[in-house]
Amino acid sequence: MATLAEMLESRTVAAAPELVEAIERGRLRCYACGHACPIPDGAVGVCKVRFNRGGVLHVPYGYVGGVQCDPIEKKPFFHAHPGALAFSFGMLGCDLHCSYCQNWVTSQALRDPAAVAPPRDTTPGELVSNAVRLGARVVVSTYNEPLITSEWAVSIFAAARDAGLMTAFVSNGNGTPQVLRYLRPWLDLYKVDLKSFDDRHYRELGGRIEPVLATIRSLHEMGVWLEIVTLLIPGFNDSPAELDRLTAFLAGVSPDIPWHVTAFHKDYRMSDPDDTTPDMLVSAAERGQRNGLRYVYAGNLPGRVGDFENTRCHGCRALLVERHGYLVTRYTLTENGACPECGMVIPGRWGPRFEGQIASVPFLPRSR
Ligand code: SF4
Repeated sequence: MATLAEMLESRTVAAAPELVEAIERGRLRCYACGHACPIPDGAVGVCKVRFNRGGVLHVPYGYVGGVQCDPIEKKPFFHAHPGALAFSFGMLGCDLHCSYCQNWVTSQALRDPAAVAPPRDTTPGELVSNAVRLGARVVVSTYNEPLITSEWAVSIFAAARDAGLMTAFVSNGNGTPQVLRYLRPWLDLYKVDLKSFDDRHYRELGGRIEPVLATIRSLHEMGVWLEIVTLLIPGFNDSPAELDRLTAFLAGVSPDIPWHVTAFHKDYRMSDPDDTTPDMLVSAAERGQRNGLRYVYAGNLPGRVGDFENTRCHGCRALLVERHGYLVTRYTLTENGACPECGMVIPGRWGPRFEGQIASVPFLPRSR
């Protein structure tokens, strides 16, 4: 029986020319993520899904490891079409190896024999027609690290745009200038998982912090709608000094970037830290506000974090979007995306009106 790596080897195409460069001694430099691997002929990159064969960089194409319909609040995007259905797909593999990963079945499929998610062959047209049939507003590349499978995402996003849908990445942000330029024409929304503000922590996870910070700065400059998530892990990234540096950095890029601080629960191989408590989450969220962030949210503990699930006007504090978990219970923004009380324009990508919510919990496409 073919191994998972062998099954994936045949599901590839040549890399986009923007994401590869021939360098010395027959090696190819891959620019799909911040590792920028120099890959010799016959070898794979750190992600284990992009490989050099005979001077051609082969990259994943034509399958999914998972598809699910999520409320957009789950991604999470809180300032982009609240209530919208986000048709979410993922491939396999990742360029990092976080021991607490909550998508490990797809992200670590090529590193960990316990993580098995067989590929299912499909086409951009099939995925997008399913998204339209189910009433999705956004198509999202997620579950594995989308940067390492950017060519496949762009094919799907081109079809999604033709069908009038928006597009999004849910990513660790370990990008390069080349991959961000390549994605920009096709991408509306980007969530970056800012895991820590300490380079030593990033190295434990298999990366570096600087490419992630550069991605955040670049996406903001490029005008891609950006939201940031930090999973608060007790003892790993929750020191007041680290949270101060992290939130001050974000506020320095723009105080209007929404920051979601979310609760950790024991998962995958990281079972030592305690689960994050509501008090810890609220105190981190308040710290973000004190450091200048205008839109701060506390996630994963619905109903236990007070007002930090809701969007309030930064100017007059009027309640604009009320939520419980992924459920939108109230929406008062004007058709121009402004506060109805004081008229302040609220940063984000808002529709002219709230169109209701198809689902406030995830579901599998085949179940509808
Ligand atoms: S996607 Fe990243 S890890 Fe994979 S080959 Fe390219 S540079 Fe290396």
